[in-house]
Amino acid sequence: MEILVQKFGGTSVGSYEKMNEVCKIIKAYKETYKDLKLVVVVSAMGRKGSPYATDTLISLLSEINDQPNKRELDMIMSCGEIISGTVLTNMLQVRNIKATFLTGYQAGIITTNNFSDAKILDINTERILKELNDNNVVVIAGFQGKTEDGEITTLGRGGSDTSAVAIGKALNCSRVEIYTDVDGIMTADPRIEPDAKVLDCIDYEEVFQMAEKGAKVIHPRAVSLARSANITLSIKNTLNPEFAGTRICTECQREYMEYEVKNSLMTAVAHKDKVAQVKIKASEDDFTNILNDIEKENISIDMINFFIEEKAFVVEEEYIEQLENILKKSNIEYSIRKNCAKVTLIGAKINGIPGVMSRLVKALSKENIPLLQTSDSSMTISCLVDSNDISKSVHAIHNEFHLN
Ligand code: ADP
Ligand code: MG
Repeated sequence: MEILVQKFGGTSVGSYEKMNEVCKIIKAYKETYKDLKLVVVVSAMGRKGSPYATDTLISLLSEINDQPNKRELDMIMSCGEIISGTVLTNMLQVRNIKATFLTGYQAGIITTNNFSDAKILDINTERILKELNDNNVVVIAGFQGKTEDGEITTLGRGGSDTSAVAIGKALNCSRVEIYTDVDGIMTADPRIEPDAKVLDCIDYEEVFQMAEKGAKVIHPRAVSLARSANITLSIKNTLNPEFAGTRICTECQREYMEYEVKNSLMTAVAHKDKVAQVKIKASEDDFTNILNDIEKENISIDMINFFIEEKAFVVEEEYIEQLENILKKSNIEYSIRKNCAKVTLIGAKINGIPGVMSRLVKALSKENIPLLQTSDSSMTISCLVDSNDISKSVHAIHNEFHLN
């Protein structure tokens, strides 16, 4: 049985009009590939402010108290995908496409029990396969599952991407399609960089780095799962389905190399806002203790810079309160600069090309953008800048490395 998993993000199911486009895509596949079985994974409808978006559902509880019980929070969050999935299924049925809807629970998605950030342990595909055998398009709620004890869980932000790839893996698919509101993976976020262009092909490692560094078009967990299962991902635009989009696979590395020689040596620039720079005056021992506490609290930090007198690092703003509690307890001198952003240049060959860092620093300085901190790895260079400088920085780097 040939099965294709298609995932439609919140932006693709935000309204009846958008869902109508989704129905057209599904219908076209069913008509063109008569034997193809379709599994359709959906996110909640729309973004912040929409009546059934995840943030709106959370606010139903957070209006009452700051920290609602996580178990109930997961239950209310899971309703978003149940609503969009049932609406879409109904629309398919109205169009005479045989379809059925399954919650993550019904689809057999078994997860760990850490609410709001559960990991998929296993997928019992029996029910999905039964529905496919009955010739149904199987619409499944993304972002959710159940524990072995039958508790409803959610998978954390970007979880629907992960659901889709995990279901693809469980069904032995060689390809999963991710539909969104842009034409594919681009050289920068098109909302920030008008010259950004679509990459026809990119390998897992680079796109993973992009996602990790803030390019939210695909979630990093989904990328690493796809790589481990050798699943090719196609990123496509719901409103422009004829366009091929971006392919993410191992072979893309080779093609990319040819492409690289002809064009830019770098691949993309990503940005992540809402981060803060923390500076601490502490001895090595004190700093090690603080790091231990940070780890215990599950706060992730990066861009760690080490000087004898001072240590600096970067933390996402949502963790600042937790972090400050640790720092206050340690009784050391510290400062926190909020409203920062990380802008990252990504390229598989960064390491092997001399002078990239200095070109980058010069490009920012030419635009009078204060550079607060840097860090690099074998395929990334990240720059910490003020949030107000995001667009200017992305643009300067995009231009300097001829990504357009
Ligand atoms: P969905 O609802 O489909 O999951 P997301 O909002 O999560 O959609 O992701 C799509 C968005 O990702 C785009 O609208 C775009 O603004 C943003 N984005 C950020 N970086 C990139 C990039 N490098 N390429 C494409 N899109 C990007
Ligand atoms: Mg998304």
